Amino acid sequence: MRLLLRDLPIRRKLMVILMIATGGALLLAGAGLLTLDFFRFRREMVTDLETLAKIVAQNSTASLSFHDPIAVEETLAALNAKPSVLGAAVYDEQGALFGTWPREDPKPDFPPGPGPEGYEFRQDSLALFEPVILDGERIGTVYVESSLSEISKRLRFRFFTMAAVFLVSALAALALSSGLQGLISKPVLHLADTARAVSERNDYSLRAEKQSADELGQLMDAFNQMLSQIEERDTALQSAKDDLEHRVHARTHELRVANDELLQSNRELDDFAYVASHDLKEPLRGIHNYSMFLLEDYAGKLDDDGRSKLETLMRLTRRMEVLIDSLLQYSRLGRIDLTMEEVDLNELVAEVLENLDANFKTEQVEVTVPRPLPTVLGDRVQLGEIFHNLIVNGVKYNESQRKRIEIGYRDSQPPVFFVRDNGIGIPDKHFDAIFRIFKRLHARDKYGGGTGAGLTIVKKIVERHNGSIWVESTPGEGTTFHFTLAKGDSLATQSTHPAG
Ligand code: ADP
Repeated sequence: MRLLLRDLPIRRKLMVILMIATGGALLLAGAGLLTLDFFRFRREMVTDLETLAKIVAQNSTASLSFHDPIAVEETLAALNAKPSVLGAAVYDEQGALFGTWPREDPKPDFPPGPGPEGYEFRQDSLALFEPVILDGERIGTVYVESSLSEISKRLRFRFFTMAAVFLVSALAALALSSGLQGLISKPVLHLADTARAVSERNDYSLRAEKQSADELGQLMDAFNQMLSQIEERDTALQSAKDDLEHRVHARTHELRVANDELLQSNRELDDFAYVASHDLKEPLRGIHNYSMFLLEDYAGKLDDDGRSKLETLMRLTRRMEVLIDSLLQYSRLGRIDLTMEEVDLNELVAEVLENLDANFKTEQVEVTVPRPLPTVLGDRVQLGEIFHNLIVNGVKYNESQRKRIEIGYRDSQPPVFFVRDNGIGIPDKHFDAIFRIFKRLHARDKYGGGTGAGLTIVKKIVERHNGSIWVESTPGEGTTFHFTLAKGDSLATQSTHPAG
């Protein structure tokens, strides 16, 4: 029943509940009244029959005393007036039938002798024995038997009356409940409508209209209060969001300005480094030349120590020139614009390897490109510089019998290129340092010497292409340089941090 009611609309549910309650109460009351009536009718019947028997007994005393059965039957004949009486009999003192009524058939089966005083309900009738007393002595017994049809008739009548009352009451209850259920259903439906409107429109300024001061009214108040709190939070959230957006805008603007300034100052720094190194070259060349003149023209006048010092001076000026050239190359990178074009990396790497071929002649070098490289957008010359530097380093910092260089890439957005070698490797702690200018990890002349500018230049080129570069290495096993040539978020998956 509960399950059946559960999903009904609240209006129906209320009406069904009211009807069940009213109908149930009426049925119970009807059943109770009918039961009471049943017992009351039986009681009344017994009393009536007792009175009747007493009257007959009273009127039969003389006839019994004078043994006058005719008079007894006349007395009994008065029962004719009572249609429910089926029959009556009078027994004499010895218990023999003295007179009966009706005299003709259908004659009921009168008991052969008087039974104990009192009444007895049989299947269809009520039978009663009443003593006939004269001067305190029992001189006979009256027997009366009455049909129960009267009770059934009265009960039937009562039943139909009640059914009519039930029907009229049920109709009245239906009419009343359909009018009154609105007291509960209307506010609930209104609340449901408001809640639906709030969630559909996301409008927390809506409010439910309080319609009563009962628990439903309290529910509306609580609901409205909840909406107010959500609205307040919403407003606060919105203003926090606006504020945050405003701050992000402001910070972005500041960052953009700072970035522009940084770019500007980087360019100025490059300009300065370029001009300074350019200008420094001339006096350096002079120092070098004059040292040479001294060594040539005054060789005879100098002792061995003097000559050796002059030779050191010349070596140092040459080294300084190499360093200045590297600085010039590095600063020039920031001053010239990239010439962007589609570059087939297979061709580019082949060119680089061809140029390096002469260098590799003396070495046992094996360069592999396991699968064709893609075509990328970039500055052909500078991209060539990247591969050149990384390949040269892979061979230079390599003590293996058979030096192996592998060039490849990982499919990602953007692709991550790598140059791997089986060289001496780099300890973790130097992963950042190697990208700093003039930073070398070894003695000046070890591993074929160098200025320590190669990787700095490679990093600058990669960054000018909006990419990043990082290194993975195990000392004694080899090194892998990874780099990208465009912006992307795939780097988040890398095991080591991009340099810079
Ligand atoms: P340079 O080679 O002129 O010294 P680089 O900038 O190319 O300058 O390299 C900086 C340093 O990083 C090198 O001195 C070397 O110690 C280390 N390095 C670079 N590449 C490798 C490599 N493939 N294997 C091991 N060490 C390397």
